[in-house]
Amino acid sequence: MPDAPATPADAVHPDAPAADYSVVVIGAGPAGLGAALNIVRARHRTLVLDANRPRNAATLHSHGYPTRDGISPLELRRLGRAELEQYPEAEFENARVTRVSREGEVFRVEAQGIRGGADRSVTAVSVVVTSGLVERLPALPTLRAFYGTALHSCVMCDGYEESGKPLALIGETDDLAEHARLLSRWTDDLIVFGPVGEQDERELAGRGVRVERRPVADVVGDRSGMTGILLEDGETVPRTAGFVRPVYEPALAYLDGLDAAVDDDGLLVVDGEGRTSVPGLYAAGDSTPPGPQQLIVAAGSGAKVAAALVRDRL
Ligand SMILES: Cc1cc2nc3c(=O)[nH]c(=O)nc-3n(C[C@H](O)[C@H](O)[C@H](O)COP(=O)(O)OP(=O)(O)OC[C@H]3O[C@@H](n4cnc5c(N)ncnc54)[C@H](O)[C@@H]3O)c2cc1C
Repeated sequence: MPDAPATPADAVHPDAPAADYSVVVIGAGPAGLGAALNIVRARHRTLVLDANRPRNAATLHSHGYPTRDGISPLELRRLGRAELEQYPEAEFENARVTRVSREGEVFRVEAQGIRGGADRSVTAVSVVVTSGLVERLPALPTLRAFYGTALHSCVMCDGYEESGKPLALIGETDDLAEHARLLSRWTDDLIVFGPVGEQDERELAGRGVRVERRPVADVVGDRSGMTGILLEDGETVPRTAGFVRPVYEPALAYLDGLDAAVDDDGLLVVDGEGRTSVPGLYAAGDSTPPGPQQLIVAAGSGAKVAAALVRDRL
């Protein structure tokens, strides 16, 4: 339990504009929790609003987070939220933010309660956006049944567990060859199902990677797991695991009124410390242009934003 503060939260910021909260954090993934924990420790009264749909909820084990390698994503969140809620400066609500707008010197944040959470309409001096991404997977009828167990999207996160297996790489984007090269580090039995240019195909063949150009109809398997990739011509190619390349879409429509700068993929443009083009609005984690999409990277970027925000508010 943290020591009780000697003075009320925010009492150290007498010149701050009047608002319900010093900071609202949108999203409680690792980026939001990393930001919020460090912000409340700087004694800013902070409301975290979370729609409770972790991007990695499909998987049972998360990898690569020091001290928590193999932990379930929900447990990692539970631990993060419990730590945060020990601080009197922190408040948490299960609510989906529907709109963020300017109201004079402060932001107004409106949110719809979910899973027992209340509807909220509050003002805040600063807002941190950490609402992550939405994934669109290739449209194969049974793919989702294997996503997170036999089929994964992050090679760095799950490649190790699938090492040496007969793997599939499925996707529709033009960067499949790059993913295949990376994945060939973990297996010497890889088939790519999707568009790959001829030059890339020759280079991949040199690494023992085969490209299958016939269209894919579905992923097949049974209770024991995935068994293969069904092609539209009826042939099934035996594969016991693999990776998909989703298309990533930011879910930032709630910011529309603010006119914040976004890049070609719709992700929020930020400076090296997470400041967006709108003063007082910060962003971290998967809502910002890609670093590696990993838990520890998102948590670290949240902490970095917290440091910038706290300094900016002085
Ligand atoms: C299947 C899968 C497995 C993965 N495995 C690993 C792994 O093993 N190791 C690893 O390091 N990384 C892994 N990742 C990547 C990792 O999950 C992400 O990089 C990381 O979660 C990004 O953190 P974030 O905080 O930016 O976003 P998220 O974790 O996606 O959190 C965003 C939060 O914001 C909430 N939200 C969204 N919109 C709103 C709104 N309007 N209002 C309020 N809240 C909102 C969401 O509900 C969610 O809770 C995996 C990803 C997937 C998809």
